[in-house]
Amino acid sequence: MGAITPVNHLYDLIAGRITDPAKRLIDADDGRSFSCADLIVLTGRMAGALRAMGIGAGDRVLVQAEKSPEVIFLYLACLRAGAVFLPLNPAYTPVELAHFVADARPALMICGEAQGVAMRALAQALGGRVETLGTGGEGSFMAAVWQAAPAFANVPRGPDDLAAILYTSGTTGRSKGAMMSHGNLASNALALCDLWRFTRDDVLIHALPVFHTHGLFVATNVVLLSGAAMLFHARFDPAGVLAAMARATVLMGVPTFYTRLVDHPGLTREAALPMRLFISGSAPLLAATHAAFRQKTGHAILERYGMTETNMITSNPYAGDRVAGTVGLPLPGVSLRIADPDSGAPLPPGATGVIEITGPNVFKGYWNMPEKTAAEFRPDGWFITGDLARIDSRGYVEIVGRAKDLIITGGLNVYPKEIEAAIDALPGILESAVFGVPHPDFGEAVIAVAVLDAAAGLTGDERAMIASLARQLAKFKLPKRIVFVAQLPRNAMGKVQKNALRQSCKDLHVA
Ligand code: AMP
Repeated sequence: MGAITPVNHLYDLIAGRITDPAKRLIDADDGRSFSCADLIVLTGRMAGALRAMGIGAGDRVLVQAEKSPEVIFLYLACLRAGAVFLPLNPAYTPVELAHFVADARPALMICGEAQGVAMRALAQALGGRVETLGTGGEGSFMAAVWQAAPAFANVPRGPDDLAAILYTSGTTGRSKGAMMSHGNLASNALALCDLWRFTRDDVLIHALPVFHTHGLFVATNVVLLSGAAMLFHARFDPAGVLAAMARATVLMGVPTFYTRLVDHPGLTREAALPMRLFISGSAPLLAATHAAFRQKTGHAILERYGMTETNMITSNPYAGDRVAGTVGLPLPGVSLRIADPDSGAPLPPGATGVIEITGPNVFKGYWNMPEKTAAEFRPDGWFITGDLARIDSRGYVEIVGRAKDLIITGGLNVYPKEIEAAIDALPGILESAVFGVPHPDFGEAVIAVAVLDAAAGLTGDERAMIASLARQLAKFKLPKRIVFVAQLPRNAMGKVQKNALRQSCKDLHVA
């Protein structure tokens, strides 16, 4: 007999790697447990329910529900049914939700009880069907699932067919729907399994949200393709994660996870002993956090970099040096160059410019936005990430900030990260964020917001700090003002919200 040709690119790859159906796949913190056999049966029933609701190839299925294992199975059921999975942060308000529904025109919207009223109103105005899904497997959608047969003939889908639309967080302008194909997701997950040496003996602590690429694709697809298992936490809680380490091997987190763990007295060498790998991404990890974590546990956190539109792009090595403050080397199959942000001309080694990439991981464009899509690719097909970086002599990528956060003051470029690093190194400072505000003379003025380290017991002396920065930074790079705050505003993925800071500093007196 000849080899069976895969018909559903990503799902067949996942199902084909299940060697032991009885093996545990997900242990949830509400006490429920799911095996690989449960995955096959439950996603079959879910795909059957989707078909019974009239969902077919290319239809969008919008899911705005709290984290539960069912959301992961729903993603896989959408693959099987040929539908496009469209997850949304449950924190989005009805006004924000209206934008997504009007843009994506989902045929089906699955939501928690909390979103039901707003969702039904939108469905009435714009069309589409609404079902509910609770965190413990309750709701109208699951009632339909239990009516459906476990066997399902998967809808054929090739590598270029859409698997999901993920809306970017949209800190500037309208949130854009990044179209991810089966091939985008499969190629990236396969590369990460190899790179991070995942095996069926691994147990991942999954405490990330499942509406974002990090928790939905990076964490889940790597586990599914390696035959590993996951301990599913509804939310990140340092004590819960520390306790889970006793029966886990890997943690994937945003930097906030690691700063909170470092602050927890339970983080010790013994607590981390069963673990083989700690991975960080989605926002920059402070070198100080990397050092403190290593000192307490002996583990060097492995930092990687990616974005919704591209999946993962670079990673520090598993076996080689994991260099704090860098995001490592391009993934196998991903080509990366540093270019002039305006002209797109490649820059010489060591220069700072925008990261551009090509590879099978790069998305298919923004939903309904052909012009925006075209603007983010160079004519030779390379995707412009918008992240500014330089590559060091060993090939490690060092991100210095988003292009839109670059400050141009008096015609000179100031990279926020350089100033933040200088401020963070001052005594009594925990962390900082640097950004530009409009200035009549200079175009933009450099402003810093700093968080004092309560343990150091110092008060913030703005003038003294600027004077000490003046000993190491050129005058044009010096913050015109330093504002002290209790904490930096961060989104669910741990990214500092510089727009919010700019807004709160708009009436600040700047000489
Ligand atoms: P998102 O699409 O929400 O995943 O955000 C992607 C953006 O997060 C990237 O373009 C980077 O600006 C930032 N990012 C992700 N990982 C890292 C990292 N390890 N270090 C610095 N920035 C990161």
